[in-house]
Amino acid sequence: MKPILVVGASVGGSTAANTLATANIPVVVLERDLSWVKPCGGALPPVAFDEFDIPQSLISRKVKMAQIHSPSERTARFAVTGLETREDDYVAMARREDLDPFLRQRAVDNGAELIEGKLIDLKFETDGVIATYTDKQTTQKRSLHAEAVIGADGAYSTTARLLGQPRLPYCVAIQERIRLSPDMMDRWGDTAHLYLGKDVSPDLYAWVFPKADHVAVGCGAGPGKTKEMRQLLANLKERIGADLADGEVFLEEAHALPIHPRRKMAFERAMLIGDAAGLVAGTSGEGIYWAMKSGQQASQTLIDVLPDVSEKALSRYQKQWWKEYGMMYRFLRWLQRWGYGNQRQMEVFTDMCLNKDVQQLTFESYMYKRMAPVPWLSQLRMTGDIIVSQVRHYMPGGLRN
Ligand SMILES: Cc1cc2nc3c(=O)[nH]c(=O)nc-3n(C[C@H](O)[C@H](O)[C@H](O)COP(=O)(O)OP(=O)(O)OC[C@H]3O[C@@H](n4cnc5c(N)ncnc54)[C@H](O)[C@@H]3O)c2cc1C
Repeated sequence: MKPILVVGASVGGSTAANTLATANIPVVVLERDLSWVKPCGGALPPVAFDEFDIPQSLISRKVKMAQIHSPSERTARFAVTGLETREDDYVAMARREDLDPFLRQRAVDNGAELIEGKLIDLKFETDGVIATYTDKQTTQKRSLHAEAVIGADGAYSTTARLLGQPRLPYCVAIQERIRLSPDMMDRWGDTAHLYLGKDVSPDLYAWVFPKADHVAVGCGAGPGKTKEMRQLLANLKERIGADLADGEVFLEEAHALPIHPRRKMAFERAMLIGDAAGLVAGTSGEGIYWAMKSGQQASQTLIDVLPDVSEKALSRYQKQWWKEYGMMYRFLRWLQRWGYGNQRQMEVFTDMCLNKDVQQLTFESYMYKRMAPVPWLSQLRMTGDIIVSQVRHYMPGGLRN
């Protein structure tokens, strides 16, 4: 059998390649630049470490607290805890320069072939796919013949474009990594800070995520805001200035954040996963877990249906994905528009985060990817709190804009 070609050896592509290689399916991974570090906050749920067998040594810091800062600097501070009391609930802070090479190397160790080259063309023929790429070392054009392709090449996916798919609107995110002295790091401790307000993000949020010896300070914003990003980040740094004193910026990074999922992710001899399929969750901007999960599910579909690589056979992946996660994506898109829609709603969102039921349900679904049924008493308490907050912030004298 010809190999499966995976385009992109980041979190999604390496997970897809590893799943195939472990099942003894020949797989070639094409990565345009092995030294590139994906711009990313690196926040990961604990379930990812179990599900994808990632060693805990790749965690740079475990975050145990979250703090939301409203536009008027009211705060909601709460522990990272799910519905049950567990000893070790946390949000993992990883560094992509550690995580990506680990996942890539594991796929290679399990039998995947890794080529450093940039995909430039795909030709779909009756007996396979001919992929043309530019080899990074020699700068020569080369081609390879594959049985099918998994496009894991991120937000600007060449695979999606060559499949005739439109470029989707995407959010943008900008981030600086700032090294701090141990004393200053202590100020950030084990807390992830999220900042709301049109000065730092008109329709998403800004963040400070602590790692072992530095903080990742960033802002996200909706489509069409690329030009404003530097100013938003400057505003955020001004807002938290004192706590970054003497910090040394050692990396500035920015990238698209695709939160408009593609309806069509399966084709004749091809599938799209992760950012290439727009699978970043709204509200949180979480994409690492979803890239790995979609990589695993797309590969598992291939393992189940090979040698049948028809669109009908590969559509199993797409159907299963939207059956399992469609409601979650729709809810998080709605929550993003509702909670970050304007400054008053951001205040309401902050109030909502003070509600214990909201905190526990949010972290249960984030950390363990389980949509727990919400008891009626909790529903009542959450609805009551939201109505009170909504009235408070929309009454004359409440926060405007
Ligand atoms: C600033 C920022 C902060 C973020 N913070 C978080 C966070 O804290 N937690 C979280 O869960 N998510 C976060 N995300 C989202 C997360 O980074 C992505 O969702 C995730 O990396 C998607 O993984 P992927 O494998 O689909 O694609 P990517 O990680 O984008 O990787 C695509 C790969 O394909 C390669 N490639 C591209 N084109 C070609 C080509 N033509 N030929 C060969 N190779 C190619 C690229 O070099 C790259 O290695 C953040 C995103 C940004 C921009």
